[in-house]
Amino acid sequence: MNEDKNKLIVRKIENGTVIDRIPPGKALRILEVLGIDANYPYTVALAIRVLSKKMSLKDVVKIKGKELTENEVHKLSFIAPGASVNIIQNFEVQRKIQLEIPDHVEEFIKCLNPNCVSNSHEPITSSFDIISKKPLILRCIYCDRVMEDKYLSGKL
Ligand SMILES: [Zn+2]
Repeated sequence: MNEDKNKLIVRKIENGTVIDRIPPGKALRILEVLGIDANYPYTVALAIRVLSKKMSLKDVVKIKGKELTENEVHKLSFIAPGASVNIIQNFEVQRKIQLEIPDHVEEFIKCLNPNCVSNSHEPITSSFDIISKKPLILRCIYCDRVMEDKYLSGKL
């Protein structure tokens, strides 16, 4: 019976993206970051806090007609490290991406320091080195401001 319920979530789609093993509670944030809302024209399946095979809780998102860009994969790796992204084409998994926090991030996050050059009107995008992944700690390459998990959790 449990298996039938799971099939509803992971049932194969012709083209699109399945994101599995998302940390519990992060699925809605993922849709937000991907810009998927009520106006999205294709099927979106969302499961929050379902039991995985390893008997821990996870979220799952299935998005028909959506292929993630590199930039989107990059963003999601901060929100859902450890999740797996499956790009589906013609009902087959074409590509499997394991989301991992990178060593460096640009654009996605704003520097906390209001006087930082990346916050000025100069055409400079924010840029951070990741100095710790767990807990997540970033350092701005322009002003050296360090940003910790606590601040970032509201942004991610
Ligand atoms: Zn800065």
